[in-house]
Amino acid sequence: MEVSRLVPRMLLDIQNRGQLSAGMTVWNPDRSQLLTTYKEVGSVSEVFRMGHRGKYESLMEQHTGRAAIGHVRYATCGAEDRGYAQPLERPHIQKRKWFAFGFNGQLANYPALRAEILADDDNHLARDNDTEVIMHAIGKELSGDADPDPIEMLAAISKRFDGAWNIAMLDACGRMIVARDPLGIRPMEYAQLGPLVAAASESVALLNLGFPAESIRSLEPGMALIVDGTKVRIERFAESSKRAHCFFEWVYFANVASTMDDRSVYLARKRLGEELARLETITIDADTVVVPVPDTSKAAADAMAYRLSIPSVEGLIRNRYTGRTFIDGASSRRQKAETKYTPLREVLEGKRVILVEDSIVRSTTMKVLLGRMRSLGLVREIHVRIACPPIIAPCFYGIDMSTIDELFAPAFLRGEPLTEEVQAAMAARLGADSLRYLPIDSVARSIGFDAVEMCQACLTGHYPTPAGAQLYKIALNQLSSGEAGRTYEATAVR
Ligand code: SF4
Repeated sequence: MEVSRLVPRMLLDIQNRGQLSAGMTVWNPDRSQLLTTYKEVGSVSEVFRMGHRGKYESLMEQHTGRAAIGHVRYATCGAEDRGYAQPLERPHIQKRKWFAFGFNGQLANYPALRAEILADDDNHLARDNDTEVIMHAIGKELSGDADPDPIEMLAAISKRFDGAWNIAMLDACGRMIVARDPLGIRPMEYAQLGPLVAAASESVALLNLGFPAESIRSLEPGMALIVDGTKVRIERFAESSKRAHCFFEWVYFANVASTMDDRSVYLARKRLGEELARLETITIDADTVVVPVPDTSKAAADAMAYRLSIPSVEGLIRNRYTGRTFIDGASSRRQKAETKYTPLREVLEGKRVILVEDSIVRSTTMKVLLGRMRSLGLVREIHVRIACPPIIAPCFYGIDMSTIDELFAPAFLRGEPLTEEVQAAMAARLGADSLRYLPIDSVARSIGFDAVEMCQACLTGHYPTPAGAQLYKIALNQLSSGEAGRTYEATAVR
């Protein structure tokens, strides 16, 4: 069965997870080159030349295959060039040792693992990121005459890794291995229908491939899906005594059409909006409207408006061709935010606007938006409502917010609880008439997990892994000493 053509289609559905690069590795036993990897910098449609039928067809012809893995990249460390695009392939003369893999997450103990590798003067790392370290860790388990079962290999690397690390791997024997880290920080879904087995970070990619919703399952933390010829097995490689699902997936990162770990992203955002409505205190009159910051806050905004019995209107039109600002590199973030939204005078004139946003990380988008709405000169009031609690600490598990001083909220909170006065000061800084965040307990209620089953470290400063806690201490020290740079970079050893 030819499956490689399915990969670009699946990657398009999870383009929200990264736009820096895209690629795929294909296995074809009828070619001398058993594994071929194609990858480039750019969005999925750019990389796979989807706007040019001839070029797309020619690419697909060159990369036909019976098994394939794909990747879209979102960088939390490393450069933004082709050398960092994935899948990462490691050729070898022995088929079982020749493999490629794609990685989702971030290893919080990467600096220690890197230092360990480089402690041997004979060793060299070509890239400055955790993906290459993972490749060497897998390679080491396969080295010599050892021929471990994939479960043994995963069990061994799992003992050394701290953080979020989901992997999809394909070897030159055509064996596919999909693994989810023991804390389940990042999502992983899979489905089987007849001879077709597929897995993806989000269910939307499987749904749109034609798998019925009821056939799509979450890979449990610490488990691996292994497809070897016609044999499919799901087995545990590590104990998973606690869970730490990243709440930010449901609040912002994931596609709103996805369901992960049996929790719908849309329903979680809808409930977050209902929580905002429950807390609302401003006077509602005939000219009060809710305006979502498109597109991720739309479900929350619509639900909030419905509960308040006021309209949710498109006061901001998003230019859909600029991409997402949060997942872009810092240099272009402000520039893109400036060209990303157009405030609509016809909708906003004379209105008291409740502006709903999914979260405030750095406040780049919010400042630009409020500035542009104010410049219309006709908006009566702007009340900012955030469908998330304040983000006060960095993420070391795969979301690109790695220092405290790049974040908006910590400078206002300074370790103290969120009060009306603090929110008033934040509103003044942004140029809003008022601002309100959700309390932390709204998150668990809205997504449907117990708080202890989630990672909420960027809200609380309590990290679910030892290396995460250690990096947070370093980040706090960096803040007090005024050092710049990612916390990772401060700890990397050469
Ligand atoms: S720190 Fe925040 S963004 Fe990072 S994994 Fe935890 S909850 Fe998610």
